Amino acid sequence: MNVLGIEGTAWNLSVAIVNEEKVIAMVSEAYIPKEGGIHPREASQHHAERMPILLKKIFSIFPRDKIDAVAFSQGPGLGPCLRVTATAARLLSLKLSKPLIGVNHCLAHVEIGRWMTGARNPVTLYVSGGNSQVIARKGGRYRVFGETLDIGIGNAIDKLARKFGLPHPGGPKIEELAKKGEKYYSLPYVVKGMDFSFSGLLTAAERLIGKARFEDIAYSFQETAFAMLTEVTERAMAYLGYDEMLLVGGVGANERLQKMLREMCEDRNAKFFAPPKQYMGDNGAMIAYTGLLMLKNGQQTSLEESIVKPNFRIEEVPITWS
Ligand code: AMP
Ligand code: MG
Repeated sequence: MNVLGIEGTAWNLSVAIVNEEKVIAMVSEAYIPKEGGIHPREASQHHAERMPILLKKIFSIFPRDKIDAVAFSQGPGLGPCLRVTATAARLLSLKLSKPLIGVNHCLAHVEIGRWMTGARNPVTLYVSGGNSQVIARKGGRYRVFGETLDIGIGNAIDKLARKFGLPHPGGPKIEELAKKGEKYYSLPYVVKGMDFSFSGLLTAAERLIGKARFEDIAYSFQETAFAMLTEVTERAMAYLGYDEMLLVGGVGANERLQKMLREMCEDRNAKFFAPPKQYMGDNGAMIAYTGLLMLKNGQQTSLEESIVKPNFRIEEVPITWS
């Protein structure tokens, strides 16, 4: 079975084709804001403009008549971006007379992570621009055991970078600065039950600007935020008794975060997994692959059901595969 998947919830427009064995092709184009952060309408215009070009490109690599289904990220995400993606997917599905499959974006991060690493039943830390969640499967659903009470960790990092005068996305630049940090400044460490919060931490870090070196602020921010994420992930693993941990989402590319989590896993004799970098952040292959899993398990989306879901939760999807 060959499934085409379209991802376009936020900054990355990405189209891929996968089968059971591998990613056959993937073409992507990132929206990069001229200034500031992601502007939903500008991002959706970018996606609308580039969609026909990316589809043409992928069909020059792989024949369209060999596609068995069309999957798309139905949410969560930015409304205007989701609508562009869904419209293209509906059109393709009608034109090719093939099933349409609306995929939950968070679920897709988890499933491609498992596929690429061989993790079976992990506690997943999903850290991206808009989302930060600790997820694990229990019964026939993925459940969220802890999550951010305000902004996503990637969003917090990007905002701090902007205050430093650095362009979007700030993640990799903050990581480079933090490597040169020497002094740790105490910042608010906010874990409430199994949830965490980053906006107070961000404000406190921003207040250090002018008083401390950028390197030390970046370092202190990362150490504090990543320790919070590691603590909640460890508590979910202890509670569930699971001995695998999977890291996914764009912020997962951060080496310091990976090191903290890997050490935590070693301490408790658990296995740490992280997919290759191109499958960490938003990508079309994760949508295509999850669409394939859903299709094989009899899940399809009618036109009526294909309405976009900006607040789509992972718990809403029944999980009928192993
Ligand atoms: P996603 O939405 O999953 O594609 O993730 C995008 C987010 O990942 C953005 O907020 C980026 O700044 C962030 N990011 C990318 N690389 C890194 C990195 N090396 N360290 C921290 N954050 C990163
Ligand atoms: Mg994402």
